[in-house]
Amino acid sequence: MNPIAALIREDLRDFAGYASARSVSAVGEIWLNANESPWPNVADPRALARRYPEPQPAALRAALARLYGVAPECLLLGRGSDEAIDLLVRALCAPQRDAVLVAPPVFGMYAVCARLQGARLVEVPLCERDGDFRLDADAVAACALAAGAKLVFLCAPGNPAGGVPPRATVLALARRLAGRALVVVDEAYIEFADAPSLAPDVAGVRNLAVLRTLSKAHALAAARIGCVIADAELVAALRRCQAPYPVPAPCAELALAALDEPALAATCERIVLVRRVRARLAAALAALPAVRRVYPSQGNFLLVRFGDADAALATLAAAGIVVRDQRAQPQLGDALRISIGTPAQNDRVLAALTSLQAAA
Ligand SMILES: *Cc1c(COP(=O)(O)O)cnc(C)c1O
Repeated sequence: MNPIAALIREDLRDFAGYASARSVSAVGEIWLNANESPWPNVADPRALARRYPEPQPAALRAALARLYGVAPECLLLGRGSDEAIDLLVRALCAPQRDAVLVAPPVFGMYAVCARLQGARLVEVPLCERDGDFRLDADAVAACALAAGAKLVFLCAPGNPAGGVPPRATVLALARRLAGRALVVVDEAYIEFADAPSLAPDVAGVRNLAVLRTLSKAHALAAARIGCVIADAELVAALRRCQAPYPVPAPCAELALAALDEPALAATCERIVLVRRVRARLAAALAALPAVRRVYPSQGNFLLVRFGDADAALATLAAAGIVVRDQRAQPQLGDALRISIGTPAQNDRVLAALTSLQAAA
């Protein structure tokens, strides 16, 4: 069997999906095939939203493909990378049979989507070594094969762990799992990292997929634009499992504007600033008596262990600062995740935590 078909759920291999009014190829001047209103809403004078949108807005798809260095047919647009995660789990994992492998501590959506699909969850924890969290790629490969995992989610940079597994490690893992599992690299924060994206590698490794999003570095979280980059045949199969119109037209327009040269240049400047401020905040936090450890981070956040995480959370809350509690995650019983803010916001974080004493 072809290696892509082997990855897709057996009962969906010949699934055609929904044929929407927009998916028929027709030429005409007067379109009366989708029960849309012939007049725009008064709130929408440019008639941006009168008609159903393109299922995969071609201009946005091309612009993102150019930005990520991939072929447009290898890129599927959706409502954030969250939708891509859900779509991958639904299209590849048969309920009560197939498994999803994750390496915690990690982003929770992989486990949520597995649970909703009735897929088993296999966990191969990151190993803490030399003050950093590392992927145990040998254990991941062995457990994926033993458990019959169809999907292996890697997070690079890891949320919340902050590290990026070496490219050679990820590619070798994908080769070991060829025909058995899809290795998905979630690159939600890759713009903030030293390491380059693996998106261009998808062309040469058929069971490798990369998730990208406009939510973080591009500052468009509310537009809900993300994508999965994968083998073109897999992308076509995922498209058949997706909602008919996943990308609202106003969101596609906003995203396209964000990929214009001046907007992209401003995004690059923000990324440079975040990286600079991240180093400064990490050093300042590490010097505080209340802080046990600040992990190296390739993302726009810092993972911080506290002598008394309860007290740190309360002190920050009293100063009106909300951070992400990580204490329910394995290995992170004393850790909080702090997003990199503006320099002024980071100063407020430091000022609040400076008063905290070291734990006994
Ligand atoms: C924020 C985040 C996402 C969500 O991205 P959307 O494109 O907004 O859905 C995906 N993966 C990780 C690891 C994240 O931290």
